[in-house]
Formats: sequence, structure tokens, C-alpha cells
Amino acid sequence: MLVVDSLTKSFGDHTVLRGVDLHLDKGEVVALIGPSGGGKSTLLRCINQLELPTSGQVTLDGTPLVSTRGGAVVAPSAKALLRVRRQIGMVFQSFNLFANMTAEQNIVFAQRAALGTGKDEARERARTLLERVGMGHKAGSHPSQLSGGQQQRVAIARSLALDPRVILFDEPTSAIDPEMRSEVLSVMRELAEAGMTMLVSTHEMGFAKQVSDRTVFLCDGGILEEGPSRSLLEQPTHDRTRQFLRAIA
Ligand code: ADP
Ligand code: MG
Repeated sequence: MLVVDSLTKSFGDHTVLRGVDLHLDKGEVVALIGPSGGGKSTLLRCINQLELPTSGQVTLDGTPLVSTRGGAVVAPSAKALLRVRRQIGMVFQSFNLFANMTAEQNIVFAQRAALGTGKDEARERARTLLERVGMGHKAGSHPSQLSGGQQQRVAIARSLALDPRVILFDEPTSAIDPEMRSEVLSVMRELAEAGMTMLVSTHEMGFAKQVSDRTVFLCDGGILEEGPSRSLLEQPTHDRTRQFLRAIA
């Protein structure tokens, strides 16, 4: 469904991604792990065009998403960008909810801006989705009145509201108090069980092992190894992977 092909990204002369190849099948859950600074966020941001790749291509259901001219990557048109944002959801480490809007208004706004949904329909869908993530009782609360775990569940509902083909999660629980993480992880587990295609950058090895089908170890801007989550996490092939897993255990 989602294919990342020879993706590179440099910031000036600092090369962050050195040719990443990755694919996700429909319904697959892939965990992206690796040391801090290894390029996980940059990879996710390049996939949904928050960041312009330096070279390479991202294809969704056979449609190339990265605009090129004469072989070079160029900025996508507003229309192309909107299409990407609709099809590829993103959940951020820092939630990124609008502070001046309630939980429900955040989700209504997203639908109206990206899909042009009518007000009543958007509101009804927002309520349904808030219920789904266990936040129905907080529809009228502003982000500042919610815990990190609650804000992240609203952010997940917002992302679901656009009915994306795939959702990218960038360390969705890193900014949340440990005791509040499980409520977010269980929402993610339910999504996975419902068949959502997900690429999740995470340091939650329990989640990776129990929920993800495959784990990819990204290090120094390249994929060092990947495989079924259980075998990669329990019996990594490379010393570097072993070292990383020991360090975060
Ligand atoms: P990770 O998410 O795995 O911690 P990142 O993708 O955030 O890794 O960062 C990878 C590298 O890219 C780091 O060295 C970081 O400093 C650099 N980097 C990320 N974003 C930018 C940017 N906008 N400008 C310059 N360097 C950046
Ligand atoms: Mg990151």
C-alpha cells in the first residue's frame, strides 16, 4: 500500500536519511525504532510531506506523492499536499491540538478544512470518534484542561476523522506521564486490531512486540535491519541493534 523508495534527506550538508526503502501492506502495523537523532521523525515527516525529501519517492496505492520536475524533487502544489494530508494521518509526540479550540472543535475544524464537511456532519462524526477513543465526556474541554494521554487520544480521533489510508505516529507516548501511556497504547492497539495501517515510531518495546507485525531499526539514517517484531526484538542480528535494545531496556 505504502512504498518508500530510496528516500534521502539532507539539511544543508547534513545528511539525515541515506536512501531508505520501506513498504507497508494494507492493515500492517510497523514499529520504527532506533536511537534518538537516527532520523525517525524526519522519515515520517518526509512520508507525509511535512518535509520535502531531497530525493526518492513515496507511493500510496500506486500513486507517487513526491512531486518531481526533470528528476528533481519540487514542492507539491497546495492541492497535491491536501491530498497527501487526507490520505496519510499523522499523530505527533506533542499532540499539536489547537489550544483555543475544544476537543470537539479541533476535530470539526480538521474535517471542514481538509474535507469541506458540513458543520452538523462534522460535529456528529467528532462525537462518534471521541466516544471511540474514550473521550466522549471531554468533548467540550480545551487541551489545557486535559492530561497528555487525553490530548493524545483527541489527536488520534482528529486524525481518524479524515478517514486516512494510513496513520503515522511519531513517538505518540513519549511526552506523556508513564501512568497515562497505557490509555493511548490501548487505543492504538484497538486501531491495529480494526485493521488500520500504521507506522509507529516508538520506544515502547512492549507495544512493538505485542502489537506491531514488523519492526524496523533505523540508525544513522538507514535501515540496519527489519523483521517480524518478536524475532527482531528478541534475537536481533546486528550488534548495533542489540546495543540499542539493551540500552533502552
Ligand atoms: P529521531 O526522530 O530518530 O530522533 P530526527 O529525524 O528528529 O531523529 O533527527 C535526525 C537528524 O536530523 C538529527 O541530527 C537532527 O538534528 C536533524 N534534523 C532534524 N530536523 C532538522 C531540521 N529541520 N534542520 C536541521 N537538522 C534537522
Ligand atoms: Mg523523533
